[in-house]
Amino acid sequence: MSHTYQIVIVGGGNAGISVAAKLLLKNKKLDIAVIDPADKHYYQPAWTLVGGGVFDIKKTERTEAEVMPKGVTWIKQKVVSFRPEQNNIVLDSNETVNYQYLVVAPGIQLNWKEIKGLEDTLGKNNVCSNYSFKYAPYTFECIKNFKGGNALFTNPNTPVKCGGAPHKIMYLAADYFRKHGVLDKANIQYWSGGTRLFAVEDYEKTLLNVVRRGNIKLNFFYRLDEIDGPNKRAKFVGFGEKNKDQEQWVDFDMIHVTPPQSAPDFIKSSPLANAVGWVDVNKDTLQHNRYNNIFSLGDASSLPTSKTGAAIRKQAPVLVHNLLALMDNKPLRAKYSGYTSCPLVTGYGKLVLAEFDYNNKRMETFPIDQSKERWSMYQLKTKVLPWLYWNKILKGTA
Ligand SMILES: Cc1cc2nc3c(=O)[nH]c(=O)nc-3n(C[C@H](O)[C@H](O)[C@H](O)COP(=O)(O)OP(=O)(O)OC[C@H]3O[C@@H](n4cnc5c(N)ncnc54)[C@H](O)[C@@H]3O)c2cc1C
Repeated sequence: MSHTYQIVIVGGGNAGISVAAKLLLKNKKLDIAVIDPADKHYYQPAWTLVGGGVFDIKKTERTEAEVMPKGVTWIKQKVVSFRPEQNNIVLDSNETVNYQYLVVAPGIQLNWKEIKGLEDTLGKNNVCSNYSFKYAPYTFECIKNFKGGNALFTNPNTPVKCGGAPHKIMYLAADYFRKHGVLDKANIQYWSGGTRLFAVEDYEKTLLNVVRRGNIKLNFFYRLDEIDGPNKRAKFVGFGEKNKDQEQWVDFDMIHVTPPQSAPDFIKSSPLANAVGWVDVNKDTLQHNRYNNIFSLGDASSLPTSKTGAAIRKQAPVLVHNLLALMDNKPLRAKYSGYTSCPLVTGYGKLVLAEFDYNNKRMETFPIDQSKERWSMYQLKTKVLPWLYWNKILKGTA
């Protein structure tokens, strides 16, 4: 009979590694397997800074082996399906892995193909995206080489990881243009599938001032449908009452694209998914709504909060507490508040540190008004948080 792990974790990203490390700190005898086919692990939050030309892309990448906690078994394969009734998982090699308890954390899926023409032109023709390790450095090339004209920034009508990332890079670009004397010649446009700039009013107010400062034109209820790279034009399709069935081609001199995103296909098609594809968990305890021995956190989970690494920092201790309680036949007492955070870079040396809960209520860390742009919070984002990620969060100590 094959081995049965006490705990199997699917995905060795921000969430999976944090949970594995925290579990081992609580009990180093736990028999844990992490399943992830990746060679590399990325600190994605810095890709905004890479696109803004102020962070070295190489510092956002480490090998997966380096971040794997000592004491876990790393199964370097891809999970293709789940059999929760049998407590096992199927790998793409067709082998199965048995578990007593399961943590599901494979992140979000980037659906580049949903935008016609995008894959053929990304990384050239002034078409860039911070949502990729490969292409984030090209964003800064586009910003640097921009001499005026239309600079477009898109946000899809799907959930995304880091809701601020599609517009943070636009504020950096506007500031760069201003510093280099091209803002007057720039027509900056935000094309968003969302209904507003930011869900929490106090932070949105500050952002609207940043928008005014950059002369940025906001378009809501539009999604990017197609890019014609060689001719430098993008097609947007409107929806909602006002824009329904509207289609327009817009010329661009640069375009930053945030791809449509969804739950990973292998989660969507699994018995673990809710109606829209995410791993269906209780929003307080992070336990699966149908399978008691399964938990989930991070971008792939159904937790109704903004998908960020900062949110995972508060989810991981709740999950670990409740999972260990369950293993001990105790009640699940830890509760997640929905806390999430978005360090909204609004320019070089300026940042609004948004922190809020499930009810969009501000939940700030520092005894200052964080809805204001601050140099100190920019230092936190560019210097402290990357260090914290590699040295504390992935080690389970923050
Ligand atoms: C441009 C950008 C800016 C961002 N800015 C911020 C920010 O400022 N602040 C912030 O807090 N967050 C930010 N984020 C979001 C943050 O990076 C994510 O929320 C976080 O990485 C999610 O962690 P995760 O573990 O759920 O997924 P990930 O870290 O993406 O990890 C998922 C892991 O699962 C593995 N996996 C996938 N499929 C399978 C499979 N079939 N089998 C096994 N393993 C699998 C992958 O290989 C990967 O290692 C940003 C993200 C981007 C792209």
